[in-house]
Formats: sequence, C-alpha cells, structure tokens
Amino acid sequence: AVRVRIAPSPTGEPHVGTAYIALFNYLFAKKHGGEFILRIEDTDATRSTPEFEKKVLDALKWCGLTWSEGPDIGGPYGPYRQSDRKDIYKPFVEKIVANGHGFRCFCTPERLEQMREAQRAAGKPPKYDGLCLGLAAEEVTSRVEAGEPHVVRMKIPTEGSCKFHDGVYGDVEIPWDAVDMQVLLKADGMPTYHMANVVDDHLMKITHVARGEEWLASVPKHILIYRYLGLEPPVFMHLSLMRNADKSKLSKRKNPTSISYYTALGYLPEALMNFLGLFFIQIAEGEELLTIEELAGKFDPENLSKAGAIFDIQKLDWLNARWIREKLSEEEFAARVFAWASENDRLKEGLKLSQSRISKLGELPDLSAFLFKSDLGLQPAAFAGAKASPEEMLEVLNTVQPDLEKILEWNKESIEAELRASAERMGKKLKAVVAPLFVAVSGSQRSLPLFDSMELLGRAVVRQRLKVAAQ
Ligand code: ATP
Ligand code: GLU
Repeated sequence: AVRVRIAPSPTGEPHVGTAYIALFNYLFAKKHGGEFILRIEDTDATRSTPEFEKKVLDALKWCGLTWSEGPDIGGPYGPYRQSDRKDIYKPFVEKIVANGHGFRCFCTPERLEQMREAQRAAGKPPKYDGLCLGLAAEEVTSRVEAGEPHVVRMKIPTEGSCKFHDGVYGDVEIPWDAVDMQVLLKADGMPTYHMANVVDDHLMKITHVARGEEWLASVPKHILIYRYLGLEPPVFMHLSLMRNADKSKLSKRKNPTSISYYTALGYLPEALMNFLGLFFIQIAEGEELLTIEELAGKFDPENLSKAGAIFDIQKLDWLNARWIREKLSEEEFAARVFAWASENDRLKEGLKLSQSRISKLGELPDLSAFLFKSDLGLQPAAFAGAKASPEEMLEVLNTVQPDLEKILEWNKESIEAELRASAERMGKKLKAVVAPLFVAVSGSQRSLPLFDSMELLGRAVVRQRLKVAAQ
C-alpha cells in the first residue's frame, strides 16, 4: 500500500512551500488509496522549537491537509518526532560502522573550518578530505575509550557515479566524486537529517518520497545508506521549487512565504490549495476552480504542470475572489468572516493597540486596515505635511533597510533598539527616523504604534513595504 509523508523541520514560520509539498503527497495518497503521514524532523536541536512545531501542525490543519499518523495523534510506527526517537537510530549507525561502511571522525570544528577555507581558496567545493579514514583500529578504540568527541561519517565510493531514477526528473547520474562523506551521527549522539530521514522512511514503511528539488543532490547519500543497511530505497520524486515571476526561487525577500500571512489576510484555505494544486495537474482554461477532491481526481504525477511552479499572487487573488463569490453561500460567507475575525491573531493584537486610539468603534476598520492589505497603494501625498524633505525621508528609508536586516529576533524591542542605533548613526532624532517609517509601513501619518505594528506585520511584509516606499 502507498504510504507517503510530509516531514517538516520546525525551524521557522510554516512556509507555503511546505503546504505545496504536503498537498502533492496528500493528493498522491488520495489517488492511490494510501496513507499520508506527518513526521517532525527536529534533529537540528538549535533551530527547532516546540512553538514552530505547533505552528506547522496548525498551518497544515488550516490547509485541510489531514494526516492519519503524526506526533499529535500517534500511530503504529511512532513516535513521529525525531527527537523522541534518538535511541532508534544508534543501532543502524553502529551497523554501518561495523560493516566498514562508516568511520569515526575526530576532526575538530577548527580543523574542518581550516580545511574548508583552503578548499574555498583553491576554488573547490568544500568536502571532507578523509583524514580520519586512515586511522588504525586500535587508535580509534583508544580515542573513543578516552572519551574524545567524535562523529560518525559514511564512506563514499571513490570512483564511478550514482545512477537512479527519479519520478519527476527521470534518469539521474551524479558522480560519487561530488558526494561528501556525510556525517551520520553528530558528536552529541543525535543523527543528522540524512541518517534519521532514511531510517524513519524505512521504519515507517514509506513507499514514495516526494519533496522539493533541493534534496535531489542528497539522493546518492540516501541510496548509499539504504544499501549499507541492506534496505530497498523508496521511489523518489523531486518537485520543482516554487518560483517568483522573475524565475528566482520563491523567497521571503520577494513574496510573503509564511502560511500565517495568507491566513491573516483572509485567503480561504480552499483557494490556496486550489492554487497550489494547479501546479500538479493539466487542465484547460476555464476549469481552474477545483476542490481538493476534484484536484485528487485529476491528479497525475506523471503529468505535472509544464508551466513550472510560478507563484503568481494575482492568480491566487483571482482564485480566492472566485471562491468567495462562487463557492460560498451567503450564510457560509458570513460564517467565514466571523470565524476569520475571531481566530485572527493579527486582528486581536490590532484591537489591543487600537483601544486607546479611537473614540468610536467605527473608526477601527480605518485605523487597522493597513494590517490586512497586501498592497498599501502608497501615494506621494501620504508623506505630505511631514517636516522632512523627500530627500531626507528617502535617506532614512534607505539607511534603515539594511539595519533592520541585522535583527536576529524580530520583535518590537529589537526593532526599537535597532532604529535607535540607526538614528544615532545618522545623527538624527528617533522621531525623524520614525516619521517616514510610519508612513511607509502603515500608509498614513496617524496610525497604531510603529514598533508593535512592525512586529505584527512581520519582517517579510515590512521589508516589502519599505522597498516600495523607497522607490
Ligand atoms: P527563503 O528562501 O524564503 O529563506 P528557505 O529556503 O529559508 O526560504 P526554509 O525555511 O528552509 O525556507 O524552508 C522550509 C520548507 O519550505 C522546506 O521544506 C523547503 O523545502 C520548503 N521551501 C522553501 N522554499 C521553497 C520553494 N521556493 N518552493 C517549494 N518549497 C520551498
Ligand atoms: N525535513 C526536510 C525538510 O524540511 C524533509 C526533506 C524530505 O522530505 O526528505 O524539507
């Protein structure tokens, strides 16, 4: 029976790319009467958080992509969170070492950095040079017994190439020379993504692995791990990444990429799934409006859309409008609006900020509208009446943009601190920096508090608005 999975890493705001890959897997399972499961890949302990895990589960549920096994509901092959499976991976790593397919590596981070530095200087891609491959068995044993920190790496064939078939790309050949001696087990005893991913796909009986094309180059490592363990690899399908209209990879620098942005602005999950699903089917013009069931009916992974996955916001808006107009009854529409409002964190925070700034409730929509717009439609007139000249305002906007990029944790305190530092460097009062930002971010000179609004809108939207205002 077909078993597929979505395997998100909870290291950031849930990405529309994750919904796109999840939808493909979901439709694939539906089409084949199989199971769609969810596994959390949190082997990167420094970047994974329980908050992001909750967000990714909530976001996928909002999309309507329900799974039949997962960390929240359990299942026959659990646990479904890699950090809860730490002890499961060790015997697999030990087997690889015992069979001579893996080796212990004692190289320090400093030595590895020097090695990479030298490789970069020589114009070569960084790759482990194999120093610890030559260690004598007795030396390895005594260093392990002495408690010296080390990792386990996999051996890679020294000649030839890895040939495999990809369900989307067809026949692929990657020379072994281009494959690094991947770390399988980290010094802290946690497996790497590659090791855990292969072991889990095997233990969870995954038959087809469909994921983003950025993983295509990792397939040789994965195939080798399967081979070292005497296991049969699943079928691989690498989907083209979503792109901006200019063909660059969809990134938060050009388009909002977090699912919560689309939720907050009032896109319907059905419309977002409809939009993403069109990348996976071939249809004639006029047949675009489809439910998830209809998408599954037309889904044929042999026949992915030839257009490439261009994330065309206007098309999404068009579909969303059609869903609102054509697919919802009057009652459903009203129910959606109220549900959207009552579950909308952005609205809730916006209300808190508004309370001390209005004299009648009816002023609310005007005051907080900028929180829900994808385009402020900023006119030069919005800046009129400000004390500073247009040149001065432009200088401020251009200076603060790179400064804001330095912020690690995007919140009102860090934003305020960075803007204060920025103002000081420019020899300006904070007020002179805040005034043009206010207009750029909210579209008006009278609005909700700036730092709170910037936190609420999120880094990606603020970045976009500042860029537009500075044009
Ligand atoms: P950005 O370029 O916006 O910084 P990123 O590469 O940092 O994006 P990640 O947070 O690493 O994004 O990715 C989260 C998930 O979203 C990953 O599973 C990744 O495969 C998927 N993803 C990221 N970008 C795309 C894309 N353009 N198309 C499809 N999936 C994507
Ligand atoms: N955790 C990986 C990611 O976030 C999953 C890759 C895979 O599906 O193998 O993209």
